[in-house]
Amino acid sequence: MIFVTKPFLPPREEYERYVNGIWQRNWLTNHGPLVNELELQLKDYLQLDHLLYLNNGTIALQIALKALGLKGEVITTPFSYVATTSAIAWEGLKPVFVDIDPQTANIDPNKIEAAITPRTSAILATHVYGNPCDIDAIKTIADRHRLKVIYDGAHCFGTKYKGRSVFEYGDISTTSFHATKLFHTVEGGAVFTTDPDLLKKMALLRNFGHEGPNDFGDIGINGKNSEFHAAMGLANLKYIGEILESRKAQWLRYRDLLAGFQARTIRITEGAEYNYAYFPLIFSKEEELLKYLDMLGKGQVFPRRYFYPSLNRLPYVKQVEAPVSEQISSSVCCLPMYYDLSPEIQQMIARFLLRMQNN
Ligand SMILES: *Cc1c(COP(=O)(O)O)cnc(C)c1O
Repeated sequence: MIFVTKPFLPPREEYERYVNGIWQRNWLTNHGPLVNELELQLKDYLQLDHLLYLNNGTIALQIALKALGLKGEVITTPFSYVATTSAIAWEGLKPVFVDIDPQTANIDPNKIEAAITPRTSAILATHVYGNPCDIDAIKTIADRHRLKVIYDGAHCFGTKYKGRSVFEYGDISTTSFHATKLFHTVEGGAVFTTDPDLLKKMALLRNFGHEGPNDFGDIGINGKNSEFHAAMGLANLKYIGEILESRKAQWLRYRDLLAGFQARTIRITEGAEYNYAYFPLIFSKEEELLKYLDMLGKGQVFPRRYFYPSLNRLPYVKQVEAPVSEQISSSVCCLPMYYDLSPEIQQMIARFLLRMQNN
């Protein structure tokens, strides 16, 4: 059976070498040496001054929202994973949905200003499938209305925008290192900022608000990650070059194989160096998608409806119309992509799709 993704695993001995050190030190969590080393190596790889390694990408979003001291309404995208919206609601803020651009599936900056009210405090947008939002347009709007900007960069590891890591943009960027993501630490996440004060604040929030053993400066949460997770991250990071290269080759292969196919994929944002994390296929309507999914399932191939449903239809939000997001989320799937996916399997998947189209 071929699923949409399969986690990368490093050679077992390389992970065990790190784990042996954990046994020697008997230091399992709470800012241990491997967490520290992973933070240093990530900063070096991404060429960033500040980041915090966290226990997952959802806590990263919550810490970002909390650290900025937001109130009222947060403008966000209906086309993302549920955590983008649920984090806003969980922090007692109101998600306000702005529809997406049909070509990139990212929030449409031309529709943001109409959604701004006196209660708006921030914009939280997702770089969907790892492809950057229109960062410059969003910054112009945010500056004009004095809004904070947070980017959910859960798909973005390795993506650059105008020559810099995409995580450098916005007041805060977040990411996820969940096992399903291109670079992972089993569970994990991070926050990024260029502002040292904001970094300090988020470090406090990550650790229950501890300012000293018995001092609590602020309300906090447990956002720490463990030495075992950092060990997986360190072992995987050695392979990131190969992981990114194989993704790119796979992405381009799907594109070429499916050049004559009726469904389209996304447009890569200008100025981006894309990480090729996902290969979405957007059909003209849901019936078409379901027909193809059914046929692929019979061949033991299981793409994923990602993202579905459109988040403006969640039961705990104020439901508004977002026709582009609803149309795309009902008719999109992501094709299988993982480190050791072979060209032969990709050819087989493409053959299934093209044969059905021509029948
Ligand atoms: C995976 C994902 C998250 C959540 O990250 P976790 O590490 O699983 O908590 C948030 N946003 C998006 C867009 C994601 O894809």
